[in-house]
Amino acid sequence: MQASTGEENFIVLIQALRLTNRGLKDYVDFCLEDIYSSIIRNVSKVVPACNTYCNNLHENQWCAHCKKWRTEIESYIRLSPFKKKIKWQDIDFRKLTGPDGGLAKTELFSIYIRRHPNTPVEFDIQAILSLFQNCVYFDIGKNKSLLDSVRNVRNKHFAHTANFDITNKSLRDSVDKLILLFQHPSMLNYGNSKCIITKLRKLRKRNMELVETSTHELCREIIELRYDSSTAQRKLDTYILPPSTETGLVRRMRAAVIRSIRGQCHYVPVFLTLLISLITAYWLKYEKDTNMKGYLYSIMTRNYPQELQSPEGKFKVSNL
Ligand SMILES: [Zn+2]
Repeated sequence: MQASTGEENFIVLIQALRLTNRGLKDYVDFCLEDIYSSIIRNVSKVVPACNTYCNNLHENQWCAHCKKWRTEIESYIRLSPFKKKIKWQDIDFRKLTGPDGGLAKTELFSIYIRRHPNTPVEFDIQAILSLFQNCVYFDIGKNKSLLDSVRNVRNKHFAHTANFDITNKSLRDSVDKLILLFQHPSMLNYGNSKCIITKLRKLRKRNMELVETSTHELCREIIELRYDSSTAQRKLDTYILPPSTETGLVRRMRAAVIRSIRGQCHYVPVFLTLLISLITAYWLKYEKDTNMKGYLYSIMTRNYPQELQSPEGKFKVSNL
């Protein structure tokens, strides 16, 4: 069935949001790397490093190293009341201070967006906007009205509607807000912001060439699912997420496999012992068989089996 103009606008908006999320994620990756490197530089001056992860203790009992982590992380928080809301016991210090840079930065991100414990960290648009607002590193966070307008694009046309149909004017206004985000001086000269702005401008003119086949397919599915809005929203949320989230999933799966292999590690010595015993047993048997064969061979060919065992015997025989 042919999509109506309103439905086509919705498809274009989904594509624009997907593009926006990718652009934002790239920018955030770069910035989190910068923040994390700076924190590490300062924290490493406080020795010794902590091995016990103090964050489960009362804050008075924290070691100097962990206190430094906390001070450094808090130094990037824009508004003081936010500091009081951080539940430090929910932060995974093993990830935050561990050798896997990706996990560490994701954990750092989760502090600034105040993720609920035991929920996966997703770099979706809403979470990234919270990061901008809460973390002083991001100048764009001071422009609350800009961030709110982008939030509204998503909420009005995407998150809280079962009507997957938007007007031409609404599409243009929405994409304009997304463009303004990348035009902010703190973002404009970073990486691919200008390229994203160019693409968003084309989408604003309803250039369908930029719409991926997968977006068309998803939207067809979503429009059919309009009476099951929660499933539809879930599918849309997943689709818009940047690919690095999939990489994160792959990493989680890989970690699960490694954990599973580590879990089997106690079987390895047992297996090796059995293998060595088996090889030794076969080797001894082979040795025995080889000696026996040599002995029998000598009987059959020379008729003087004693020659093998006694050179003297041979001497005596040949002298007869
Ligand atoms: Zn500590």
